Amino acid sequence: MWNLNKVCSVFVLLIILSACKEASKQSEVISKKDTLAIASDVENVIVDTLQIPSAEKKQIPPLASLPDTTFVRLADYSNDFVYEMKYATDDNFLKAQVYDCGECYVRAVTAKGLIKANTAFMEKGYRIKFFDCYRPHDVQKKMWKIVPNPTYVANPAKGSIHNKGGAVDITLTTLDGTELDMGTAFDFFGRKARHAYTDLPQEVLDNRKLLKTTMESFGFGAITSEWWHYNYKPTLNYKVANFTWDCD
Ligand SMILES: [Zn+2]
Repeated sequence: MWNLNKVCSVFVLLIILSACKEASKQSEVISKKDTLAIASDVENVIVDTLQIPSAEKKQIPPLASLPDTTFVRLADYSNDFVYEMKYATDDNFLKAQVYDCGECYVRAVTAKGLIKANTAFMEKGYRIKFFDCYRPHDVQKKMWKIVPNPTYVANPAKGSIHNKGGAVDITLTTLDGTELDMGTAFDFFGRKARHAYTDLPQEVLDNRKLLKTTMESFGFGAITSEWWHYNYKPTLNYKVANFTWDCD
């Protein structure tokens, strides 16, 4: 005969067994769910990895596909130039930083000319280094206020070729970035910066000549008062611009 205690014990045992079975089922369900979640995470990681580059990559159209007048960031089309954008610092004749950040923008046609000239320089062991490229018209007005002398600063009423995206202020460096001696610093306003000034060491005269003859052979024109300034001739009649580049 089963006594009450025995019946109770069996009953409790059955409840425990049943509970265990249920827990095991649930655990199986959770485990399946987890596996699905992990699989789905893995899937997401793969998809994300594929998506991130195309979502973040800046679309840079080929230079050859652009109209000549389009403004381009030169660094998007060549890694071979050197930059020291002087107006993004206060180390310039204005003694003021007039650009939020240093970028070299020029018209597409100017970029093509610069890349060709730089290729020729690199074959001889040099690179073009930029001090200034496109310059917004408002910055031209600031410069004119400080130096209202057309020998050194273009009158903003007419505009500078810099405002048109066709002028660059440059020097040469060796391939490792060492500047060549050009006799004066950039933006030295005096006779010594003129092409006609020859009371300079032969090395300086040779460096200026190398810069000038090569730039001229690729369609750039020098001006008499500044050894560093070159105008790309096809842009001389372009319109003055006043956009400012992003500094992200
Ligand atoms: Zn210039």
